[in-house]
Amino acid sequence: MSLREAIGHAAPIRILQHALERRHFGVSFLFYGPGGVGKAFVARQFAKSLNCEKQSNDCCDSCSSCRTSDKGEYPDLHWFDVEGGSENIKIEQVRRMQEVMSLRPFEGKVKVCIIDNCQRLTEEAANSLLKILEEPSADSVIILMSTGLRLVLPTIASRCQKIRFSNLNRQQAECILEGKYHVNLEQRRYLAYYSDGKIGEALTLSQNEFFTQRDAVFSMLLQGPERRASWEDIFKDKPQSQQALSILMSWFRDIVFVRLRMPKEYLMNQDKQRQITQQAALYSPAQLFSMLDTLAKGFDYLKSNVNLKLLADTISVSLVWKN
Ligand SMILES: [Zn+2]
Repeated sequence: MSLREAIGHAAPIRILQHALERRHFGVSFLFYGPGGVGKAFVARQFAKSLNCEKQSNDCCDSCSSCRTSDKGEYPDLHWFDVEGGSENIKIEQVRRMQEVMSLRPFEGKVKVCIIDNCQRLTEEAANSLLKILEEPSADSVIILMSTGLRLVLPTIASRCQKIRFSNLNRQQAECILEGKYHVNLEQRRYLAYYSDGKIGEALTLSQNEFFTQRDAVFSMLLQGPERRASWEDIFKDKPQSQQALSILMSWFRDIVFVRLRMPKEYLMNQDKQRQITQQAALYSPAQLFSMLDTLAKGFDYLKSNVNLKLLADTISVSLVWKN
């Protein structure tokens, strides 16, 4: 893979390609933006491009340096993140980085140090990093990554070229889920919406029981009031309840869209168009808004540790059934 093959993030990639063209090292970048949108992917391709033997504004994917990088074995790429169940990036890790910076590159022209989750540096580690950023070695590039600019100490951020990453749009997210991760059509449509373009979150959901729960919630919605007791099976614990509320929200959002005669491609639950259209006819506008209000309050109740049985009952009685 290469920078030109990245989906989305056109502005960050333009900045990085410009940096590659200038061949000006001894610089530090701060990649910031939501988690799971592709910062790490872009950082890897940029690091690979810095030492690609073709020395253009992208990696060639075929030289020996690119091939070693693809195997994750490139000796001049150093990746730091929280380690071993720790909450923070510690000063020992920054000292290791300092040692790396003091050595010549092993194979390539540039040493690349990446610190992921740099908002988790301890105070001592951040102060130590600050010294490295103040006097970067001329044969190195540092990339810091964070989920938000405000989470990074201003003294650190001010010493870096800041590059903002945004959520991917729905088409871009779908394209990655299909091309790179082979997620089927039904799931990728839903995940692209549900995760708001955050591929990391979409992938986590695609690999757990999320779609089983979604099927269970939808089957409850379609089966009628005699199944009321089973809502308690859906609202079993807090994480499952949170997920169930989000799934219900997506269903009623789609019903509102159908009532507003929005184009069908805007529906989150593309595979349930027929059932959603049928259910849309059951709800008056007042009932729909009341349902959405109940669901929104459900999220607040969960934060305050509400009794889950009570929450299940509240949702259940707000539903409208065909006579
Ligand atoms: Zn190459």
